[in-house]
Amino acid sequence: MKRYSVFAIAREAMRQHTGWDRAWAKATPKKKYDAIIVGAGGHGLATAYYLGKNHGIRNVAILEKGWLGGGNTGRNTTIIRSNYLQDPSAAIYEKARSLYETLSQDLNYNVMFSPRGVMMLAQTQHEIRGYQRTAHANSLQGVTTEFIGPHKVKELCPIINIDGPRYPVLGALWQSRGGTARHDAVAWGYARACSDMGMDIIQQCEVTGVRQANGKVVGVDTTQGSIDCDKLGIVVAGHTGVLADMAGFRLPVESLCLQALVSEPIKPCMDVVVMANTVHGYMSQSDKGEMVIGGGTDGFNNYTQRGSFHHIEETVRALVETFPMISRLKMLRQWGGIVDMTGDRSPIISKTPLGNCFVNCGWGTGGFKAIPGSGWAMADLMAKGEPGPLAAEFSMWRFREGKFIDESVAAGVAH
Ligand SMILES: Cc1cc2nc3c(=O)[nH]c(=O)nc-3n(C[C@H](O)[C@H](O)[C@H](O)COP(=O)(O)OP(=O)(O)OC[C@H]3O[C@@H](n4cnc5c(N)ncnc54)[C@H](O)[C@@H]3O)c2cc1C
Repeated sequence: MKRYSVFAIAREAMRQHTGWDRAWAKATPKKKYDAIIVGAGGHGLATAYYLGKNHGIRNVAILEKGWLGGGNTGRNTTIIRSNYLQDPSAAIYEKARSLYETLSQDLNYNVMFSPRGVMMLAQTQHEIRGYQRTAHANSLQGVTTEFIGPHKVKELCPIINIDGPRYPVLGALWQSRGGTARHDAVAWGYARACSDMGMDIIQQCEVTGVRQANGKVVGVDTTQGSIDCDKLGIVVAGHTGVLADMAGFRLPVESLCLQALVSEPIKPCMDVVVMANTVHGYMSQSDKGEMVIGGGTDGFNNYTQRGSFHHIEETVRALVETFPMISRLKMLRQWGGIVDMTGDRSPIISKTPLGNCFVNCGWGTGGFKAIPGSGWAMADLMAKGEPGPLAAEFSMWRFREGKFIDESVAAGVAH
C-alpha cells in the first residue's frame, strides 16, 4: 500500500488524484484463519493490528456485521484521558493515551489527536476531595494531572460560569495531555494498516454461532458461511452478551443506550474538554465548530441505537448553569450507541470458559480513549494465551472473586 506523505499528495495532485489505492481491500472469507476477531470497532481492529505488528500473527480475519467503525467507535464524543483512580486502570489508559500521541505516525494515517487538555469539574466539596485524591494517586502512577482552582478553570475555559447558584465551580482535575481524536479516523487508520498486513476485514458478515469441540473453539458460523479458526476474540461492546451466549458462558455485562448530541457550528470558543460529573454532562468543540455534548445512559437495558427527546432536555438543562451560552444554541442532531457496562465500571480482557476464546468488553461509556492500549493488551493475551501485565487484573473471574476495580468515580460521567 502506498504511504501517505506530502510527496504522495503532490504527485497525485499532478494526475487528478487517480492513483490512490483503496484504504482497505474488500475481502471474502477464507476457509480458515489463525485468529478471528468478531467486531470491527476500534478495539477489534486495534487487537488485529497489534497481533500482526507485535506478534507476527497476520492470518487474521475481522468480522463485522455492519460497517467498520459503525458501532460505538463511530458514535462517541472522542474524549481521551487517563486520570483514573485504581492502578490497573491508570496503567492501561495511560498506555493507550501515550500510544495516541504517535498513532498518526505509527499508522501513517492522521487520527487528528488533539491533546488540548481535559478538566473534570469539582462542583461539590465531596468532588474536591475525590479529585485531589485522584491527583495524588495519578502522581504515584506516573500520570500527569493536577488539581486546579476555579480561577485557573476560568482562565482555561472563559465561556464557563464559575459562580453558578446551585453548583459553583470549586476547582477541577486537569490533565493537560488529555484531549480528543477523530473517532472514524482511528477505526479507518487501524483498518488500513490491518489490510496492509494482509488481514481480511469482512463487513456485512454477522457471526451467528460459535462452534466448539473438546472444550475449545474451532470456528464460527456467519451470514457468509462457516469459518474455522484456532483462536477467537470477541470484541463487540454492547453485543457481548449475545456472543457470550453463543459461546456458552455468561458475563456480568449490561447493555444500555448512551446518547450524545451536537449543536450547530459556531466560531471557536472553547479549546479544552470539560466534564461536569455532578450535573452529568460534558462538552468540547469539534474542529467543525459544533459543540459536542454528551449525557448519560438510558435508565433501562436496551439495544436501540438512537436518541430521545428527554435526554436532550436533561443534558442541556444539566449544563446550562455552567455554560449559559448553550441556551442560545440550536441543536443539530443526536444519536445513541449500545455500551457494555460492568458492575465496577472497568473492562474485561480475559480468557473465557471456552478454550482459545477470549473476550474484550465492558468499556462501557469510556472505551474510545482506551482503544490502542486495549488492542495491545488483547493481542498479547490472544497471542500468548495468558494475560500480560496490562490485562492481568481485568479477568472476568474478578467478579466471582470479589476483586473489583472500582472506577465508579472516574467513570462517574459517561465519556
Ligand atoms: C454516545 C457515546 C459517547 C461516548 N463517548 C466517549 C468518550 O468521549 N470517550 C471515550 O473514551 N469513550 C466514549 N464512549 C465509549 C466508546 O465509544 C466505546 O467504549 C468504544 O467505542 C467501544 O469500542 P468497541 O470497538 O469495543 O465497540 P464498537 O465500536 O461498538 O464495535 C463493536 C462492533 O461489533 C459489531 N458486532 C456486534 N455483534 C456482531 C456480530 N454478531 N457479528 C459481527 N459483528 C458484530 C458491531 O456492529 C460493532 O461494529 C462513548 C460511547 C457512546 C455511545
